[in-house]
Parts: sequence; C-alpha cells; structure tokens
Amino acid sequence: MSSATPLRHEAAAHLGSLATPGADGPEWIWRGGRLRPWSEATIHVNAVGHASVAAVFEGIKAYLAEDGENLLLFRLEDHLDRLRHSARICRVEIPHSRDELAEAVVDLLKANRAAGDTYVRPWAFPEGLIREQMVPAGARCEVVVDSWPFRSGFRREGCRAAVSSWLRITDASTPPRVKAFSNYHNGRLALIEARENGHDWPILLNDRHQVSEGAGACVALVRDGVVITPSLSSGVLESITRSTALTLLAEEGYEVEERPVDRTELYLADELFFLGTAWEVLPITAVDGLRVGEGVAGPVTERLYELYFSLVRGRSDRHLGWLTPVPVGAHV
Ligand code: PMP
Repeated sequence: MSSATPLRHEAAAHLGSLATPGADGPEWIWRGGRLRPWSEATIHVNAVGHASVAAVFEGIKAYLAEDGENLLLFRLEDHLDRLRHSARICRVEIPHSRDELAEAVVDLLKANRAAGDTYVRPWAFPEGLIREQMVPAGARCEVVVDSWPFRSGFRREGCRAAVSSWLRITDASTPPRVKAFSNYHNGRLALIEARENGHDWPILLNDRHQVSEGAGACVALVRDGVVITPSLSSGVLESITRSTALTLLAEEGYEVEERPVDRTELYLADELFFLGTAWEVLPITAVDGLRVGEGVAGPVTERLYELYFSLVRGRSDRHLGWLTPVPVGAHV
C-alpha cells in the first residue's frame, strides 16, 4: 500500500502540517513541572511502546489577535478539563493541577517567543518502564507540553470526503470520548483508505451504522437551514469546536440539532463541513463522489467561519472568557 498518495487538495495538505512540527523543534518544551531545552527532553527507549497505549493528549490553538499584541489561547481551560476527563476514563494519574498546566502552556508560548498562530499539544503518558502489557490503573503520568507554528484560515475550496468502510471505535470497547493516542489508529486506517480511493478525508460510521465523525474532526450538515450534527452518544469526541459552533450558530438564530444522523442524510445535505481545533471550519464539497450543494463552501459554513474567526482573533466582544491572552514578545 502506498503511503505517498499525492494530496489533491490544498486543504488536505494544509492539515498535513499537523504531523510535521519541524525537524528541529522549538527552543523549549515543558516537561514534568518545568520548561526544559528541547534537546534535553529525552526518554529511555524502553519507556515507549506499551506506555503509549494509555497516553492521553490535547490539541489547543493560540491565535494571533487582530491587534497583533497578544496570542489568544482558545478555550484553554476546557481543553485541560478534557485532558483530565480522558485521564480519568483511562485511569491514569496526572500529577499537575489545571492551573499548573494552564501556566505551563502560557510559559511555553512566551519561552518560545511564539508570535503567530500556534498549536499546543499537552500530553500525559505513564512514567517509567512499562514492561507489562497492561498499564496498571492509577499509573502516574509524566506530562509534556509541546508547541509549533500552525497555519490557520478558511479553505473555501474545501475537501472531498468519503464514508469509510472502517467503523468508528465505540464506547463499549475503546471509547472515542477519550482523546487517547491509541484511538487514532482507527482514524488513521480510515484516512489511508480514503486517500487510496482518491478522497481527502474519511467520515466514519459508528457501530449502529450511523454517522460519527472524521479522523480528527467532527462533522455537521445543513439541511433546509437547520444545522445538524451527530449527538455526543454517536461515538464522537466531545469536541470543543463543535460546542463552540453550536453556540455561535444558535446565537445567530440558526436552528441546531444534535441527534443520530443517517449516512444518506449526508447525501441530501445542502452544506457539509468538518469542525475541529486544527481543521477549524472545513467545507466538504463532495461526499462519496456526490457533490454537496454547489460544490463550494455554502452560506452557513461561510458565516460560521466568520463568527469563529472573529471570536478566536479577538474581534468579538462575546465569550471573552474563552480567550487566554499571552502578550507577544513577553519572554519568560
Ligand atoms: N474528533 C476527533 C477524533 C478529533 O481528533 C478531534 C480533534 N481534537 C475532534 C473530533 C475535534 O475536537 P476539538 O474541536 O476539540 O478539536
């Protein structure tokens, strides 16, 4: 199987940047309670492998504010809460408080002199050498916070999606509500299949054969002006972008529905889009080879993008509690 299938869409290539933080990395990384030089953040080779099975993580974005003076971390506390929820379900112990981790993220951005849109990844993995196959319950984790520059923006040309033959993992086996690295095995297989078949991204059905989510994003559709997204018990991550989008759209007066969604509803959608921290609002212009709407971003998708970006760039006077400012140029 070729892993070198060319990406036909700029959107797909853009998201690929998530996988390549740069060979050299930033100057600093936060690990186990303090900032450390990137080059010193090493680990014994025996501490990977089984230890990674129970590792949990978050993906957070900091946006350069409109005035250029601050980076605005978006819903930092909500992400750190979700990290704790993931750890609780996986029964591993994070030895840092939410406030300590929030401070770690802010300190890291300052130390790395982040001055543009930045992706922040905190993760927690059981410390020490795990030689058993099963990481014991209550295993204490080491926490690392990494960051790298990340491009943002609306990709009006969108992407082409396909329903995967791989089903989404389920709450009864490997809960998708957890943001665990091991869960991404599922999305990865679906992504490889989608690319092999000439699409950009997969949409996975759940064990009830209804729509769940993408490989790293939620999915929503618009039909007759109503915005519909699979409910939180459809086999999805409790996405922060999804909750943001539902809030913003409801405030705009759109009717929003969270409910089970059938595959064939995707085929009748006027608009279809992915939602996620990295993906932001990404229009889907074709699904299973069927054109969605006019084959370009639709009006609700465009409006949502405007609302989302005005919020994350600090242009809105609403939901200010969702933004944690970090002054650009303030060094630790
Ligand atoms: N589903 C999956 C499987 C994801 O990996 C992500 C990205 N974190 C999302 C949904 C979107 O979640 P969020 O909006 O919190 O980034």
